[in-house]
Amino acid sequence: MVKQTIQIFARVKPPVRKHQQGIYSIDEDEKLIPSLEIILPRDLADGFVNNKRESYKFKFQRIFDQDANQETIFENIAKPVAGSVLAGYNGTIFAYGQTGSGKTFTITGGAERYSDRGIIPRTLSYIFEQLQKDSSKIYTTHISYLEIYNECGYDLLDPRHEASSLEDLPKVTILEDPDQNIHLKNLTLHQATTEEEALNLLFLGDTNRMIAETPMNQASTRSHCIFTIHLSSKEPGSATVRHAKLHLVDLAGSERVAKTGVGGHLLTEAKYINLSLHYLEQVIIALSEKHRSHIPYRNSMMTSVLRDSLGGNCMTTMIATLSLEKRNLDESISTCRFAQRVALIKNEAVLNEEIDPRLVIKRLQKEIQELKDELAMVTGEQRTEALTEAELLQLEKLITSFLEDQDPESRLEVGADMRKVHHCFHHLKKLLNDKKILENNTVSSESKDQDCQEPLKEEEYRKLRDILKQRDNEINILVNMLKKEKKKAQEALHLAGMDRREFRHSQSPPFRLGNPEEGQRMRLSSAPSQAQDFSILGKRSSLLHKKIGMREEMSLGRQEAFEIFKRDHADSVTIDDNKQILKQRFSEAKALGESINEARSKIGHLKEEITQRHIQQVALGISENMAVPLMPDQQEEKLRSQLEEEKRRYKTMFTRLKALKVEIEHLQLLMDKAKVKLQKEFEVWWAEEATNLQVNSPAVNSLDHTKPFLQTSDSQHERSQLLSNKSDVNARKILPSPCPSPHSQKQSSTSTPLEDSIPKTPVSSIPLTGDSQTDSDIIAFIKARQSILQKQCLGSN
Ligand code: ADP
Ligand code: MG
Repeated sequence: MVKQTIQIFARVKPPVRKHQQGIYSIDEDEKLIPSLEIILPRDLADGFVNNKRESYKFKFQRIFDQDANQETIFENIAKPVAGSVLAGYNGTIFAYGQTGSGKTFTITGGAERYSDRGIIPRTLSYIFEQLQKDSSKIYTTHISYLEIYNECGYDLLDPRHEASSLEDLPKVTILEDPDQNIHLKNLTLHQATTEEEALNLLFLGDTNRMIAETPMNQASTRSHCIFTIHLSSKEPGSATVRHAKLHLVDLAGSERVAKTGVGGHLLTEAKYINLSLHYLEQVIIALSEKHRSHIPYRNSMMTSVLRDSLGGNCMTTMIATLSLEKRNLDESISTCRFAQRVALIKNEAVLNEEIDPRLVIKRLQKEIQELKDELAMVTGEQRTEALTEAELLQLEKLITSFLEDQDPESRLEVGADMRKVHHCFHHLKKLLNDKKILENNTVSSESKDQDCQEPLKEEEYRKLRDILKQRDNEINILVNMLKKEKKKAQEALHLAGMDRREFRHSQSPPFRLGNPEEGQRMRLSSAPSQAQDFSILGKRSSLLHKKIGMREEMSLGRQEAFEIFKRDHADSVTIDDNKQILKQRFSEAKALGESINEARSKIGHLKEEITQRHIQQVALGISENMAVPLMPDQQEEKLRSQLEEEKRRYKTMFTRLKALKVEIEHLQLLMDKAKVKLQKEFEVWWAEEATNLQVNSPAVNSLDHTKPFLQTSDSQHERSQLLSNKSDVNARKILPSPCPSPHSQKQSSTSTPLEDSIPKTPVSSIPLTGDSQTDSDIIAFIKARQSILQKQCLGSN
């Protein structure tokens, strides 16, 4: 058992605005324990806290200042926890802090750069690397991803759902067994055998999380997300299984109401926006107070789920994320205070060992059989069931070898089973009788007269006829078998022929790489002996694909608008950057792949040369009558060192290629995610604009309704200028259907796409007069107007 208080770390986020001096400082005391001092500027201190303290000091295990990168955070915080999880202990890392302080950045990572990977992807990578290294145990890894919003749990890893809101995801509920163990109903555990599979699950969950979020629920700031790695291990042959769980928790924003505190308010009195964080605090307070018997875990779903992590069987670590800007100082102080309380909680982690019931059953069955045998031996108990064919055969074999054994001491050992003993006697008796008859027959055949021979012949005939019949049967069976074999062989030949043909078709040049821009997959099929399938996108979650595929369902006009929306979106820079990086990585991988192939064939050649050389040497030795050549062959030595060098080169390149593969995959997933986000924002914007249009459009008048579109080319030009102005966020707030870009004109040889992209009141919604002639005139007029408009639009571009 390992007793440990919850470890607390602080991480300070780089400020959005320029560094504000003198707000905080990091020191170490004489025992080298680091402390964070937050200094309140006087103006804030006055109306802020009643005792007018100006500086607050908090101790942490370690404090990571703004410049600490993700690698440092992983190495110092997550790696030790992952280590104990690998050893069989439960672990939890949770990030706590106000919205925007870097919780998600720390736990999951940034959405832009590969180097911004957070604790989850790095931990997965580390765990799978360790599992691969350790061949002494059999490991199984499962992943679950739970989101808790408003006291409701949702399974983020449900691949069946096209979640467009949280409610679309399967609801997870808590069940408590009589031993007060918590079980989560409906939370699926997905097995992940590789880092890649686990990463796909993470991205699937994150995408679901993003898509399910609406401006109304603000799930990302108000919900808790618990990513859990379930690890079990077992030594081969042993029935003992170890289970360990690692929770990686991104808590809801810890901000409170009454933030700026009317004079006289103590900071701690401010209320959490998130009720479950309030309950978390209550649990923490209860745990940090001695002699408290009741801990109110059950008050909220989050505290129930994390029950073991808080004061239970778990090694727990908290990361207090701080955004130490002037306006955030009160929240930062709250976060630090919370951390100080958390640091008082003692956990007791034990190894979670369990006996595998299947193995136990097997062992017990064997033991029972042995005991039964022993019992039968002692009691001489009779068994009633008949001996099996196999047992009878075995006994007869024993008897034969017993009879053949010349050793007078030899024994017929059949155990204490009376059935077997009886059978042995019977068999011996039969043998004896048979022998007697045979002897009699021989004697009588010699002495008896001709008359007596008739029945004997009859008997022999019968026997011979039987034997003949048996042989006939055997031959028939053999012929059938032969036929079958022949047919099989023909089929195999046919298949082999087809395979060869298919193989010829499918054989692609080694390391053929796709075009990254189109999200192609990298296929390194003929890669080295380890023959790894580097098909990256292939395994990617179909959900991600579906989400991206949504676009294909858009009308052309909407697609056009989407293109412009995308171009003006801040994220497009990131997507483009990542595309560039991806392109570089692809060509790097391609080049590496080629070099690897070269190295491989070089290794082959060198080996061949060495063998040849060796044969030559031996031949020389024989011709000169020497068993071993006198001098070590320098040429061979040289070849060998070249071979070693080539092997080293090969290994280095292969390791690099593997790392590249992970990076490429991560980048592709990041891009997919960014695309889904973009799509989602576009849909929201489109819907908003469509509503605005409906609300703002003048009373539908058959003549008036075209007015807004009767623009001069100048105003249209202005509009597209506005759209293309990247810095202008409001650019998005204009009409959803701008004039098509030149690009679309090429496509739109027919009028449909253009019609689509020019907003117009549907003819059906025009109030008509009821007079069929007048009405059709009006419709014809409107159509003519629209066609003129299209031409104008084209002209202005
Ligand atoms: P939270 O999850 O606490 O609301 P986020 O993790 O979303 O906060 O961080 C808010 C923003 O700050 C994000 O754009 C994120 O990329 C950025 N950010 C947070 N921490 C860091 C850091 N240590 N270094 C660089 N950027 C950071
Ligand atoms: Mg967040």
